[in-house]
Amino acid sequence: VLSIRNVSKSFGSRRALDSVSLDVAKGEMIALIGPSGSGKSTLLRSISALQTIDGGAGRIEAFGAPVQENGRISGKVREARTRIGMIFQQFNLVGRLSLFTNVALGSLGRIDRARGLFGRWPAETRQAAMAALQRVGVSDYAAQRANTLSGGQQQRGAIARALVQKAKVILADEPVASLDPVSARRVMDILRELNAKDGLTVVVTLHQVDYALRYCDRVVALKGGKMVYDGPATGLDRPKLIEIYGPEFEDVF
Ligand code: ATP
Ligand code: MG
Repeated sequence: VLSIRNVSKSFGSRRALDSVSLDVAKGEMIALIGPSGSGKSTLLRSISALQTIDGGAGRIEAFGAPVQENGRISGKVREARTRIGMIFQQFNLVGRLSLFTNVALGSLGRIDRARGLFGRWPAETRQAAMAALQRVGVSDYAAQRANTLSGGQQQRGAIARALVQKAKVILADEPVASLDPVSARRVMDILRELNAKDGLTVVVTLHQVDYALRYCDRVVALKGGKMVYDGPATGLDRPKLIEIYGPEFEDVF
């Protein structure tokens, strides 16, 4: 469902991504790991067209249609935008709106969102939003303002919004980095369940390598913008991890 070909991205003289190629098939759950600054967020932002890639040979496709080519966001990016849900470490929900409203907003395209706040939600949107909230286990909090929810509840709300959006792919950038271990596991469990039962494709960046190994079959590692590993989680032995993260992490693995 995703095809990333020779993608590079420079910020001034710094190369955040260096000719990265990656194919993601429907139903995969992939962990994206690598040291801080290795290009993980840059890669996810490039796939979701939140940022342009360098011109030249680089190309990103989603669902068979171009997202970016030749350093430009494609005119056909609309479909990719609705089918790709993006989840961040923080700032996923609009704080002053209720959890329900945040999730229901997933049913609208970007342009309609502001308008959607003023009307009544159609019955089908209300049902879809409540079903999604139930699915991720936070329907009891539907009426609560998002900024009064715990981090874990907010992350689950963000996943619910992606479900209402009918996302087929979720790109999650450190979704559990600021959560306590129990909430983090719940969020990872939900992603894993949506992947296993609903065939949702998930690409998730993770600081904690143990989560990557536990939850994902395939792991992709970046280092200095280059892909240095792409394979089964079982292939990431200790020497390989130390090679990726550097000798100063020897005591971590
Ligand atoms: P972390 O694990 O800390 O989140 P990361 O792997 O997500 O790191 P990126 O955020 O993708 O890393 O950054 C990759 C490189 O690109 C870094 O050197 C970073 O400083 C640089 N970079 C990213 N975004 C910008 C920007 N908007 N302007 C300038 N440099 C940037
Ligand atoms: Mg990052």
